[in-house]
Amino acid sequence: MKLRPGDYHIFRVNGDTLLAIASGEIFILDELADALVESGADSEMEAQDLLAGRFPEESIGTAYREMNKVFSRPIPDHRKDKPPRKLRALCLNITHKCNLACKYCFAANLTAENAPSMTSEVVRAAFDYLISESKGVRRLQMDFFGGEPLLVFDLVKEGVSYGREKASQHGKEVFFTLTTNATLLDDEKIDFIKNNDISLILSLDGRRNANDRFRVFPNDKGSYDTIIQNIDNARNKLGKNDYYIRGTFTSQTPDILDTMKFYLEKGYYHVSLEPVTADERLPYAFKDEHIPHLLESYRKLASWLIDKPLCFYHFNIEMDNPLCLTRRITGCGAGMEYMAVDPWGDLYPCHQFIENPDFKIGNVFEGVNEKDIVDYFHHATVYDKNKCNECWARFYCSGGCHYQQYVQSGDIKKPSRQYCELFRGRLEIALWYNVKRKTLNQLISKNVNKS
Ligand code: SF4
Ligand code: SF4
Repeated sequence: MKLRPGDYHIFRVNGDTLLAIASGEIFILDELADALVESGADSEMEAQDLLAGRFPEESIGTAYREMNKVFSRPIPDHRKDKPPRKLRALCLNITHKCNLACKYCFAANLTAENAPSMTSEVVRAAFDYLISESKGVRRLQMDFFGGEPLLVFDLVKEGVSYGREKASQHGKEVFFTLTTNATLLDDEKIDFIKNNDISLILSLDGRRNANDRFRVFPNDKGSYDTIIQNIDNARNKLGKNDYYIRGTFTSQTPDILDTMKFYLEKGYYHVSLEPVTADERLPYAFKDEHIPHLLESYRKLASWLIDKPLCFYHFNIEMDNPLCLTRRITGCGAGMEYMAVDPWGDLYPCHQFIENPDFKIGNVFEGVNEKDIVDYFHHATVYDKNKCNECWARFYCSGGCHYQQYVQSGDIKKPSRQYCELFRGRLEIALWYNVKRKTLNQLISKNVNKS
């Protein structure tokens, strides 16, 4: 059996033993296959010796030959395939203003009432920059982000109309998303969003007690009632698939299963729930000691979710259609395929780095002028990070989130132990969930075909 340790991983979830191969294959092992892998046997004869008396001789031989085939498959090596540097998406921090004062907000110091917004000139220049840097790319994406973008809705409207016109002049398509706290989502805005096919990402942290603990107005009043009323109104007008609910949870609000139950009760079927990214010294941050409990929560969530019509972002793995090369080795593409623009038109690798002067890479009028920073992101693939090279999860994780690594270790190329432990633990659960769900779907379709 030829795979090296970092090319495969055996793990247990909810009573099942699974084998994940770095190439993306995943198997549930029966008792014999499990014992065989555990034995470390290097030949069929050795396997017979080590497992004699525990399993029938013939079964050991068959299992060894089958497992040998699995362990002899080549693992893709993309070391020489550098991802392209063509821009595909821009995140517009169209305003730093926000009408909420969420207590965990990474931009809280930027979102005061007198905070800046983009001018029309900057919005237009951002689209021009996206068009000029995306030669050969047909489908582009523009994300309206803030602060709260609905505070400058006229500017959003202008951006959509200018972006569409520019894209069509250059034979391209542009796809829009808008991330909002939903407190200002009235009928006029929903009509515009619907008529212009804008995908909504709506922030809501769950039930009233979880949401209102952090997502508050500046006078400390919770935002739950306003948000729920507006999301339900939007959902009725938009149709159920045109929006995504995005929640954040902290070490002080960690009941993810209960939050998912709430989303299902409300009929919100496309959801993501993210652990807060925060300095460990903050009281709501996650620390190493929280991880076992967090993973136990994900395990319970996976068991519950298995037969529910809820699409949870972190368990959503395309088992039959592995990610494209760029995604497999660089993940989000920040600083290469994707960049963020602040209200003055300055460029950053992604929205999380905004206003960190060490990561300012240029502006939309003159382009990139800090090539070293861009190069650093370009050379931050799974092959450029020592730890990732040896990691069985590398083609799922793609080297992780640069920003989280920067916050936790001070360098985008140094994944922190906490990040990796949480990612790999959650991936094990997500893989189990997907295998089980696939089996369940096959059973259902067999029964449907029979009847
Ligand atoms: S960031 Fe961590 S979990 Fe992700 S591939 Fe690298 S070592 Fe593995
Ligand atoms: S670096 Fe992290 S936060 Fe930024 S776009 Fe990538 S995954 Fe998202």
